[in-house]
Amino acid sequence: MKLFKSIRHNAQNLAENAKKNVDVKKIEFTIKGVKKENTLLYAQIGKLVYTCKKSGKPIVSKEIDDLCAQIDGNRIKVAGLESKLTELNSQSKAAAEDDIPLNVAPISKNERDLRLVRTDEGVRFMKFCPNCGGANEPDSGVCASCGYSFKSEK
Ligand SMILES: [Zn+2]
Repeated sequence: MKLFKSIRHNAQNLAENAKKNVDVKKIEFTIKGVKKENTLLYAQIGKLVYTCKKSGKPIVSKEIDDLCAQIDGNRIKVAGLESKLTELNSQSKAAAEDDIPLNVAPISKNERDLRLVRTDEGVRFMKFCPNCGGANEPDSGVCASCGYSFKSEK
């Protein structure tokens, strides 16, 4: 059954997209945190230099080196996360363009109209069973999934 496969496939896409959105939020949050950390590290270097200058002591380059190394590490981390983010965003954009929302939830008896669905053959109308929610050919008299008679309704 191509249609059912396609509906499952689509539901899977929706789930994947939802997961991607969560991932994007997480990554954005992490990037923000790392950038903030770097701002503090820069400030620490500045304070260190200022304190040394003021007290006339030589600048402790070991400490500054450590801080710089931390900053560099964070910058590499941010670059990696940003490229991951770009990848995720372009993926969900492509998926969204390919997506026609499916309405496959069981429907009430007076709502047993045809609905637009995406199948492997393209977008088309299908008739949804008010009893089990199964998808049927628009001209079916009986539900292929549960045997519900569409004709007995009126
Ligand atoms: Zn049915």
